[in-house]
Amino acid sequence: MKKHLLLNGEWRMTDQYLDVYAPYSKELIGQFAIATEIDVQQAIESAHAATSKMAMLTAIQRAQILEQLSNLFAEHREEAATIISLESAKPLKYAVAEIDRTIETYKFAAEEAKRLAGELIPMDASKGGEGRFAYTLREPIGVITAITPFNFPQNLVAHKVGPALAAGNTIVLKPATQTALSAHFLAKLLAQTDLPAGAFNLVTGSGKLIGDTFLAHPQVKMITFTGSPAVGISLRNRAGLKKVTLELGSNAGVIVDGGVPLENIMDRIVMGAFSNQGQVCISLQRIYVMDNVLDSFLKQFTEKITQLKLGNPLDPTTDLTTMISETEQQRAYTWIQEAVNEGAQIITGGRIENNILLPTVLYNVPSHSRVSCEEIFAPVVIINTVSTIDEAIEAINDSNYGLQAGIFTTSIETAFKASKKLQVGGVIINDVPTYRVDHMPYGGVKDSGTGKEGIKYAIEEMTEMKLVIWNNN
Ligand code: NAP
Repeated sequence: MKKHLLLNGEWRMTDQYLDVYAPYSKELIGQFAIATEIDVQQAIESAHAATSKMAMLTAIQRAQILEQLSNLFAEHREEAATIISLESAKPLKYAVAEIDRTIETYKFAAEEAKRLAGELIPMDASKGGEGRFAYTLREPIGVITAITPFNFPQNLVAHKVGPALAAGNTIVLKPATQTALSAHFLAKLLAQTDLPAGAFNLVTGSGKLIGDTFLAHPQVKMITFTGSPAVGISLRNRAGLKKVTLELGSNAGVIVDGGVPLENIMDRIVMGAFSNQGQVCISLQRIYVMDNVLDSFLKQFTEKITQLKLGNPLDPTTDLTTMISETEQQRAYTWIQEAVNEGAQIITGGRIENNILLPTVLYNVPSHSRVSCEEIFAPVVIINTVSTIDEAIEAINDSNYGLQAGIFTTSIETAFKASKKLQVGGVIINDVPTYRVDHMPYGGVKDSGTGKEGIKYAIEEMTEMKLVIWNNN
């Protein structure tokens, strides 16, 4: 039951452990070591000591390690998915989908390890460059520290561990406390690969203490954080010259234009709004529907919602279950009540039954209601009508966030206009903003973060460009 820290390839016990319970069954799932400042410093130092071992690996050796890891996840697919489902109440079907993506993410990392390359610079394009030959190299930066959230405990960790190792760096991982069991499973799999000891280290405990120790340690070259904006922005403000990537939250929106065959898009809308109980950074939170299709949209949407199966996350037929904690569920419920007091109408849901917040649709929500302008991170979606595409684009842009946005339309002109005007990191034409595959560039603007993930793009963040100039004069 006791889960220790991993430093330099060895499990390290601590004086204090924290009990963690399953959100749905409430069973005790593990006792996780609470790292002290000294433990965290030693984890960083063990990662630092391993940088020379990582530097000796060739590209193909790094690729093989990541390939081994991808294959191990494929071999242990069901076990890895069951752990996610147990610790985070992610319905098993989505947990299996997450492991399938994790397998691919490490595979992409293995492939990118072989493509780490610079470029030739045409020096003689400048009068002062004649007779000179130059090229760039991408070099690993050293120790990377990663802090990850609960909602994708394997795949979002893979988006940090994969590119860090592909580029020849070492890493200290601090997973979300609620989902540290998945991080331990990853550690067990990595121990079966040829990765040098100390290249991957695992610390658990207080996010604040661990984050502050990462910030203070001179050997840490980068902090890559996925989580809530408040924590991410505070880390960046104190990071000095350390590199920082922030993948933060959003209140993602979609536009539904007139003329779209609604029956073809309903499954995607339901998945976008309610998968993993809406606890997805690009969960569909705001729907702007052209006013002439509202009635038909609401009818088809609510019909689909009644087909969702609520229950135990470990049941493979379950679509929706309890949120990560009762506190979070109560917060979301309070925001729904607030919106109703501010004039919104509940179309369906809006209640907690058997410890599950029912899939909730709110209509006619003022833009200043928290369910609209903040990140709800719950199975709650709002629908407002618009009479023009410009109005819809303006409504989506009226947000502090900008991760991804979607638009369903049959008009090329409208799609093109939306792609240019939406202020987000990614525009998805004819799908929900919740769409993501793991090699695409991914990251937000505004309070949704800074820096990109998607293996190739994360590797750019996790390497330094070095220039070499030969003077042949
Ligand atoms: P969170 O509360 O910010 O936690 C994220 C991580 O930060 C956890 O490991 C947490 O540790 C740690 N942490 C907490 N306080 C800290 C501090 N003061 N200093 C350093 N680390 C600290 O977020 P969450 O509830 O797990 O995840 C939900 C958020 O993540 C949402 O806003 C969501 O949109 C965002 N997210 C973004 C993306 C993306 O790619 N853009 C993807 C997924 C999620 P403990 O667990 O120990 O508290």
